[in-house]
Amino acid sequence: MSKEYQGGCHCGAVRFTYSGEEIRKGVYCNCSICVRKGALMNTEPISPANLKIEFKNDALGLYEFGTKTAKHHFCKRCGIYTFHQTRSQPGFYRINIGCIEGIDPFSLETDLFDGKNLL
Ligand SMILES: [Zn+2]
Repeated sequence: MSKEYQGGCHCGAVRFTYSGEEIRKGVYCNCSICVRKGALMNTEPISPANLKIEFKNDALGLYEFGTKTAKHHFCKRCGIYTFHQTRSQPGFYRINIGCIEGIDPFSLETDLFDGKNLL
């Protein structure tokens, strides 16, 4: 049974809607970028077919590093990380739970993904 979620960055220039499993827990990652963002992410990689992204003008930023497999997106106006395309499943997305409407990231159980040691 999938659920529909929507959300966006702080200023509203980047918005998204997706359908996926009900969010019952979140995951943190300790890789070099996630440890700096500190964002809690959804556990289920979201297929691009199930994610609709909308943004104003050129508001959607892209940051890549290393192998450039992962695509880290953020709002160029307010700086908030909204979602990224994963390294483990290229093309699939993880979402910043703090950007999703109606979900309190601090109420969720969390896992830690050991991205730092993933080669
Ligand atoms: Zn923004």
